[in-house]
This record gives sequence, C-alpha cells and structure tokens, in this order.
Amino acid sequence: MDAVNLLDFDLDGLAAFCERLGEKRFRATQLFRWIHQRGATDFDEMSDLAKSLRAKLAGTAEIRALPVISEHISADGTVKWLFDVGDGNAVESVFIPEDDRGTLCVSSQAGCAVGCRFCSTGHQGFTRNLSTAEIVGQLWFAEHFLRRHLKTDERVISNVVMMGMGEPLQNYDRLLPALRTMLHDHGYGLSRRRVTVSTSGVVPMIERLARDCPVALAVSLHAPNDALRDQLVPLNRKYPLAELLDACERYLEHAPRDFITFEYCMLDGVNDQPEHARELIELVRPYRSKASGVWCKFNLIPFNPFPASGLHRSDAATVQAFARLLNEAGLVTTVRKTRGDDIDAACGQLANQD
Ligand code: SAH
Ligand code: SF4
Repeated sequence: MDAVNLLDFDLDGLAAFCERLGEKRFRATQLFRWIHQRGATDFDEMSDLAKSLRAKLAGTAEIRALPVISEHISADGTVKWLFDVGDGNAVESVFIPEDDRGTLCVSSQAGCAVGCRFCSTGHQGFTRNLSTAEIVGQLWFAEHFLRRHLKTDERVISNVVMMGMGEPLQNYDRLLPALRTMLHDHGYGLSRRRVTVSTSGVVPMIERLARDCPVALAVSLHAPNDALRDQLVPLNRKYPLAELLDACERYLEHAPRDFITFEYCMLDGVNDQPEHARELIELVRPYRSKASGVWCKFNLIPFNPFPASGLHRSDAATVQAFARLLNEAGLVTTVRKTRGDDIDAACGQLANQD
C-alpha cells in the first residue's frame, strides 16, 4: 500500500487520519504544526509525539512535495521553481519579495482547460489536476527553503496568490483543503486578505468559495464586452460578463476585502484602446452605484509575449493612457510591475521555457 501523503490533509482531515490510527484528535494539531510550521519530513524529529505514534506514522505516512526540476534565483530576490508532475510535465511557483511582504504564486493544475488566447498555459492544454498535497506542497517547500536560504526562523511568505498554472476553481475539491491549511493558525496562519484566488470566471464555484472559504478574489476580465471576451477567454461563452459580475457582487458580501480585483492583460491593438476603457467603465458602472465606496480595483498586466500567441504587449504610453481613463472615472487602477524579468518569472509563463 502506498504511503499516505500528510500534505494532502487540512487539520480536520489530519485529525480523521489520526483517529483511524487510534490516536486522539489533538495529536493531529501537534503533527500539523511539525509539518507546516517546522517543515519536518522525518517523524523521528517530532520529539513531543510518542515513539509508538512515530513508528505508526513511519509505517503508513510520508510528507512529500513535488520533486524540483529547477530553481532560479533572480538578482531582485525573486525565486522561481519548476516542479515535476510526471510524464514530462511541470508546474511552477514563484516567490516575489517586496519591502512589506513576500508573495508566493502557486499553481493549481498542470496545464489548463480554459485555453485563453494570451496564456501559454492555455496553449498547452490540460494535463491533470494537482492534488491538495501538490498545491500546498508548493508553499510548504518554498517557505522552508526560503527560511533556510535567508537564514531566518521568521515566516517569509506572507501572501499567496493562486496565479500560477491552471484554473483553481476548476480544481475546487483539492484547492479547498489547501486554502484551509494556508489560513489555519496551526498551519501557515495567513490572513484571508492575503490569500488570493484568481479565476477566469467559473461562476458556480465563485459562489461555493464565498460559502466555504472566502478569501480575496481576483477575476481575470481582459475584455469590456462579451464578443471580445468570448475570443480571449473561451469560458466566457459559458459564463458571460453579466453573470460573472453578478457573482462578483454577491461574493463581496462574504469577502474578507471589500473589493474584487479585476485583472486585465494589455494586448496591443486588441483590448487596450480608449474605447475599450470607456466600455469597461460603463460595464462596471451599474454595480458601483449599489456598493458603497470602492468595490473593485483594476490591475493592468503587461502581456508576457510568447510566439504561438500571435499577440503583442501594449506599449507603456498606451497602458498609462488606459489607466488614466479608468482612474479619472473613479476606478482605482494600478499597473503591475514586472518582476524577475531576468529569470522570466511572470506567472503563467514558466513551464514552457527551456
Ligand atoms: N487561471 C486563473 C489563474 C492563473 S493565470 C486566471 O486566469 O485568473 C494568472 C493571471 O495571469 C491571469 O490574470 C491571467 O490572465 C494572467 N496571464 C496569463 N497569461 C499571461 C500572459 N501571457 N501575460 C500576462 N498575463 C498573463
Ligand atoms: Fe487557464 Fe488562467 Fe491561463 Fe486562462 S489565463 S488559460 S484560465 S491559466
């Protein structure tokens, strides 16, 4: 029988596992802390667990993240890992340090079935869902690697964004325990406001996330109307903009932040013109009147080009002009900085590289 990977469990799952071994539930808390807070892999290290339990665990369980294919550390402190998911496929994680935070960008699937035109993951097609262990294992591995690398006992990763490969809301059942482990005080203790799920707009799952585990939400919009969004984000044909924006509005009732982030990848001549900005302002206007204050923020993302896309990055002046129009209409808009350019570390752009 294969060993059970303990990274697959949130605390409730681990408690149930301990009970199956004939152990008290509170043992699970100790074990969970050893795994996630201390980064332990060897049950013999777990000095406050009875020897008999350690022996039982050694015979049935393991703590194992995906194997690392490569690791690149950029001059600005950005770190990118490629993890082996088997059959010649890989997923990525990227750590982005900033003055006041450390953000890990995490993958949820090998490949992606949504097939957005501007996304290299989308062009690869769908390979498979990651397990909970493979999702949370990216954080487990990165956090404990970084503590050793930076020679600190303090927490290094303060924020997680589900913006690596894959559509997290198309792998919901495995995502949920991973999110719970990230949030739990005995796990990583991350605040709900600092864990972001990014989605291309799987409407029913946005509703479930609101009920099950409301974390910060980013929605990949990329177009101000259905005709264009149908082309760029094929999932729009199933869940058009009106349904998506309604779901966003309902999510706000549960969200830990009082706004949704709309991501908008700036594509030269495709969605970056002043008329697109004006249409976008009109698109969200009806929602603004219902909510008090800022209910959404726009994040304009410079397109990371790859040859098969046939698309180009908007120039900086066009991006600035677009941002100015949104800001002047009262929509809080930022332009995403590109980080780790020397190691090609923009999310969603890594696994295809040599
Ligand atoms: N599937 C989810 C999360 C992963 S993609 C989603 O689509 O939201 C994370 C972000 O990277 C999304 O906003 C996506 O639109 C953006 N992205 C994908 N390909 C990109 C590219 N080539 N250049 C810039 N951003 C890209
Ligand atoms: Fe999938 Fe997101 Fe890429 Fe679209 S942008 S193909 S949803 S990973």
